[in-house]
Amino acid sequence: MPGNSEELLQELFWRSSLRVAVINTVGRLHLTSKAFRDSFQSVIVVRDGYEVVSPELDSGPFLDRLESLPPGERFSLSIRIPFAGIECDVRIEVSALQSTKEGVPLFLTEWIPDTGEEEGIRALEEIEQMYRNLQENLPVGIYRAERGGILQTANSALIRMMGFDSFEELQNARLQDVWVDPRQRAGMISRLRNDGYVLGYQVNLRRKNGEELIASFDARGTFDPEGRLIHFDTIVQDITSRVRAKMELERLARTDSLTGLLNRQRLMERLEEEMDRTSRYRRPLSLMIIDLDHFKDVNDAHGHLAGDEVLVASAGKISQSLRKTDFAGRYGGEEFCVVLPETGMEGASGLAERLRRSLEETRHTLSDGTDLKVTCSIGVAEASCRNVEELIAVADAALYLAKRSGRNRVERSSPGCTEL
Ligand code: GH3
Ligand code: MG
Ligand code: MG
Repeated sequence: MPGNSEELLQELFWRSSLRVAVINTVGRLHLTSKAFRDSFQSVIVVRDGYEVVSPELDSGPFLDRLESLPPGERFSLSIRIPFAGIECDVRIEVSALQSTKEGVPLFLTEWIPDTGEEEGIRALEEIEQMYRNLQENLPVGIYRAERGGILQTANSALIRMMGFDSFEELQNARLQDVWVDPRQRAGMISRLRNDGYVLGYQVNLRRKNGEELIASFDARGTFDPEGRLIHFDTIVQDITSRVRAKMELERLARTDSLTGLLNRQRLMERLEEEMDRTSRYRRPLSLMIIDLDHFKDVNDAHGHLAGDEVLVASAGKISQSLRKTDFAGRYGGEEFCVVLPETGMEGASGLAERLRRSLEETRHTLSDGTDLKVTCSIGVAEASCRNVEELIAVADAALYLAKRSGRNRVERSSPGCTEL
C-alpha cells in the first residue's frame, strides 16, 4: 500500500486503463500509465538520464504549442506513430495542468490510437442488426437449442409457424408436445453428433393447437474442444403443403381418375412385385379379370355419363369386397383386375362369385332418376408357375369362356402350368 498521497497518485495513474502520460514542455515524462507504456514504448527515449517522448514527435509543433498553452487550456493533434507495432494515426489530447514541477508547467496527455476499432464495432453492430432483421423477417423459422433441448433463441416466424404467442410459451412447451415422434429428434441429434450437420431432415411437428405440420430441418451443431455437442442452430421450413401436394401427385399418378382404383400401369407394377414374391416364397396368388356385360348397351341407352356413374359404382363394389392384402385396378374401359395374394383358386373363385352376385344385385340409380342393373363376367386364374403375361392371358381366356357361356358368371382357368 503506498505510503503517501504522491505515491497513491502515482499508483492510481499507473493503473489507469487510459493511455495517459504527464509531460513537461521539453517532453520529459513525469508520470505514465501502464497502458501508455504497453502501447507506446517505442516512442519513449532516454535523454540525459530522463525519459522523454521521442524527439521525432517534436518535428511538428507539438512541444512548441505546449510552451504557449495556459493552465487549464487544451488542444489535440494527430500524429502517425507505431501503435502495437503498426503505424497508425494517434490523437493526442493535451491539457495544461495547474501544477508545475520545479516551476516547469506540466501537461496531461491522453494518447488515443485510431485503430478503426470504433468503426469496426459500428459495422459489427450494423451487421448484427441486419442479421436480426433478416432473422425476424425471413419466412423460415430459426432457432438455437441446447443439446438437452432447451430453446435459447427463436425468431418470430418459428413462433408463428408453431402457433405459439410468445417465445417464452414455445420455450416452455414440452418436447413431447412439439415433436410428434420424439425419435425423430433423437435421430437428428445423433446425426448432428456424427456429421456436425443435417440437411433437409424431415420431421413431424405439432402446433400449439394440436395440428400437425411437416417440416424440413437444416441444422448445424457447435461443439466444445472435446467434440461434445453444445448447441445447434436450425432453419425450419414448413413443407406441409409441398409434401401433401407431392403425395397427391403421386396418388394421382398411380390411380385411375374416374374410379379411384389403381391405374393400369400401377396395377401391372404391383402385380409384378407380388408375382416376384409369390415365386420366391412359393406362395399362392390369384387374379380375377372382371368385365361388365353389355356395357356398350348401357352407354347407348343412357349416355356416356350414366355409363361413367355405373363404372364408378361398380369400382366401389369391387373395392369393398377386397381384403387387406388384395388390390384392384382398372385394366381397361370397363374391365377391372383384382389381385389376391396368398389366395389359391378355391378362395379366389369364392370371392369372385360373391363379387359377381353383389354387382348383379346392385341397383344403380342414375342422376336422371332411372334405375339400372348391370352384371359382370369374371375369369379367375392362379399364378402357379406363370409369369405376369401368362397369368393375365389365362385369366382372360377364362373370362372369354364366361362371356361365351352366357355372361354374368365366373369361370376358372384350367389347372396346370403349361396350358394357355
Ligand atoms: P361384353 O363385354 O359383354 O361383351 O359387351 P360390352 O358392350 O361390355 O363390350 P365391348 O368391349 O364391346 O364394349 C365396352 C364398352 O365399354 C364400349 C365403351 O363405350 C364402354 N366404355 C369403355 N370405357 C368407358 C368409360 O370410361 N366410360 C363409359 N361410359 N363407357 C366406357
Ligand atoms: Mg364388357
Ligand atoms: Mg370389355
